[in-house]
Amino acid sequence: MKIAFIGLGNMGGPMARNLVKAGHAVRVFDLNSVAVQTLADAGAEATLSPADAVHNAEFVITMLPAAAHVKAVLTGPEGVFGAVPLGVPIVDCSTIDPASARHFAELAEKNGNPLADAPVSGGTGGATAGTLTFMVGASTELFARVQPVLQAMGKNIVHCGATGTGQVAKVCNNLLLAISMIGVAEAMTLGASLGIDPKVLAGIVNTSSGRCWSADTYNPYPGVMDGVPAARGYSGGFGVNLMLKDLGLATAAAQQAGQQLPLGTVAQQLYQTWSEQGHGTLDFSSIIQMLQAPSRS
Ligand code: NAD
Repeated sequence: MKIAFIGLGNMGGPMARNLVKAGHAVRVFDLNSVAVQTLADAGAEATLSPADAVHNAEFVITMLPAAAHVKAVLTGPEGVFGAVPLGVPIVDCSTIDPASARHFAELAEKNGNPLADAPVSGGTGGATAGTLTFMVGASTELFARVQPVLQAMGKNIVHCGATGTGQVAKVCNNLLLAISMIGVAEAMTLGASLGIDPKVLAGIVNTSSGRCWSADTYNPYPGVMDGVPAARGYSGGFGVNLMLKDLGLATAAAQQAGQQLPLGTVAQQLYQTWSEQGHGTLDFSSIIQMLQAPSRS
């Protein structure tokens, strides 16, 4: 299939590469020419703009930082809408707010193209391995059209419901992840300062009622697990600033829904402070370092 892929960053780069590996003819665009060249070296075709990328496309995928970038790529000069063939599906895999996702789907509809929101979970490791989870908001007909293509990049392709519900799922999952990571960080730090071996404590938690992904797969305490950001100075992984962006999406969506987020609000404040202290590009599990600072009282 002829696929246009726009946004070749930490996630989009390896995702586009997996489409090439699966035998698709992939035309790629990114503002970063080095990222474009890397994909061209892997067998994709380099292009000069979103409009150029979608020329003769049968399927379009975008993987961009935030809603403003998606808007620019879809509706801007040399954007997707001016050049994409009628009826061709557009799948936006960026993490953005549900209201913007629905707005972009309405604009696409007016342009004669169905648009699905399909944010992902699984991180850069999942993007490289082709094992991402896709949370898809789309009509049943559109989901049936996009699922086979997404399977080249992911293991679980989940139909969440109508347009926007993919982003709802993603925002709620990451809200919980932000909170659970702080909870694990607090418990691990307290345990260590009260004298238990952190590895022993993690072993207990991971077979007890405190078990969760932040504890048993991504433990933030250094020395407890191999292969996680805590084992390499919190480099790589999912950045504090990206988590902060997702918490902003959650709190904005909650305001629109008239829903309180008492723990989400505190989590957002803690990540905000940590980012302002200069740690925005570290993995989000580095928040444990903020809690390890000795208390003044
Ligand atoms: P990134 O910053 O590494 O990549 C974004 C890419 O978009 C960059 O290469 C940038 O040059 C390009 N870009 C920006 N504006 C553009 C434009 N107008 N035209 C063309 N290209 C443009 O980000 P990422 O880590 O790949 O994340 C992408 C999305 O996936 C974000 O919404 C993020 O929240 C989400 N996400 C990230 C992770 C992760 O672990 N990194 C996991 C799940 C979801």
